[in-house]
Amino acid sequence: GAEMTLSVQLVPFDSTRKLLLSRDITQLERVQTVHRDFVANVSHELRTPLTVIGGFVETLLDMPELDAQTREAQLRMMQDQTRRMQRLVEDLLTLSRLENGGELREDRVDAVALARVLASEAEGLSQGRHRVSVLIEDQHGLRGNYDELHSAFGNLVSNAVRYTPEGGEIRLAWRIDGEWGVFSVEDTGIGIEPQHIPRLTERFYRVDRGRSRSTGGTGLGLAIVKHIVQRHQARLEIHSEPGQGSRFSIRFPAGRLLEAVAVTA
Ligand code: ADP
Repeated sequence: GAEMTLSVQLVPFDSTRKLLLSRDITQLERVQTVHRDFVANVSHELRTPLTVIGGFVETLLDMPELDAQTREAQLRMMQDQTRRMQRLVEDLLTLSRLENGGELREDRVDAVALARVLASEAEGLSQGRHRVSVLIEDQHGLRGNYDELHSAFGNLVSNAVRYTPEGGEIRLAWRIDGEWGVFSVEDTGIGIEPQHIPRLTERFYRVDRGRSRSTGGTGLGLAIVKHIVQRHQARLEIHSEPGQGSRFSIRFPAGRLLEAVAVTA
């Protein structure tokens, strides 16, 4: 931020420049506000688990007479909070790597195999609480980064599981729509009110903070998805009906599609 402020001050004064300058400053202020909010959010997200852990550490140290069962319960809660922080830090690192850009390593990704891998991961996450299906309508592969695509699709899958009550359905699909290759995850879950949809990919934006936290969400999943989608010149589409369910689709341009070949990364 400091360098930007400096260069703004060095611009010579004339009226056309002045117009440009005030626009640049508005832009700069916006960037700074977003940055400040982000730092505040991260701090807040870390403070809660640290407070919980700190509290239990104190109890365990101060009360050696506690029975084994109570001690174990407290250690488990500390473990949960530690895992929450680990997930958050992992997501922050992923996001920062993606935001720094860097060249996209391109693999020949077998999209069909990847869709099947994700379906079995969905089953693992669901633990029998949902019906999971995968529809393969097309055999094209994808030119893209295997790990990033796996992570983007995986975030959509884990959201579908987390925001769908027991007994619901989760459908994965890989198909061609006109010029596009489309990977989609559809659920019969809680859905999203339309006014939230444009903001879902903002870092830490959540419709229901409590629900996101209690199911292990970091609030960064869709921000990560957005970056990966952009790096692949793809598009993220979100359709949702409150109380009915949601469909998240990633559309890949024809240039990213590969003729069907038996390939795996
Ligand atoms: P989180 O870790 O909170 O799930 P995400 O960035 O992945 O963070 O998603 C942002 C928000 O979008 C979530 O908190 C939730 O409110 C909403 N959301 C995402 N996926 C779904 C879904 N499949 N059904 C309903 N709401 C969803």
